[in-house]
Amino acid sequence: MLAVFAHPDDAEFGAGGTLARWVADGLEVAYLIVTRGDAGGFDDTPRDQMPVLREAEQRAAAAELGIREVTFLDGYFDGRLTPTIELRRDITRAVRKFRPDRVLTNSPLRRWERIAGPSHPDHLAVGEATTCAVYPDARNSFAFPELAAEGYEPWVVREVWYQSGPSPDHVVDVTDTFADKLRALHRHTTQTSHMDMEPFLRDRMATVARDSGLPDGRLAEAFTIIRTE
Ligand SMILES: [Zn+2]
Repeated sequence: MLAVFAHPDDAEFGAGGTLARWVADGLEVAYLIVTRGDAGGFDDTPRDQMPVLREAEQRAAAAELGIREVTFLDGYFDGRLTPTIELRRDITRAVRKFRPDRVLTNSPLRRWERIAGPSHPDHLAVGEATTCAVYPDARNSFAFPELAAEGYEPWVVREVWYQSGPSPDHVVDVTDTFADKLRALHRHTTQTSHMDMEPFLRDRMATVARDSGLPDGRLAEAFTIIRTE
């Protein structure tokens, strides 16, 4: 499966427990991260260091979940993403290269009740561009002829999982992999060192579990899943 996200840390915040479960189940997981999070951070780290630090943090966080394949796109910047044809083409290239059955990505839909965080414009842009890459771009042999010229053949992704969107329709019980998620998030030092993360995450994930009818004490991550065929 291929996880496509706008920023380093998106995957772990929204789906770290689920990704750890998938790896444990033997799924092959690869990341495609569109920016290096150059507009992130909360201290006086020199701005030109931020993308370097965050790329390293993302690779370390992925490794905590057992994920080794991490690719960053070049030429896209934190806070400036829109679902351009170029971004669709670059995500399509990755889809045709990795040939995943499942894609996990940011939701392209805005949550009006919680605009900060999930509804960051970069998330909406990547969710939209990835959806367009899944259908129709990756499967249409006439889309982006330059990709065929590079040797990337059409590919059909069977399902898309969206994180942090409105009205999710699926939850994953990640109580057993919560520690992995926490460890991975601690690797995003520039983003998380100022937070007391464990109580914050436990509270939020317990609410997700409770709202979906899981027993008390369980922790969950929520998604919207679409089938593409
Ligand atoms: Zn983000």
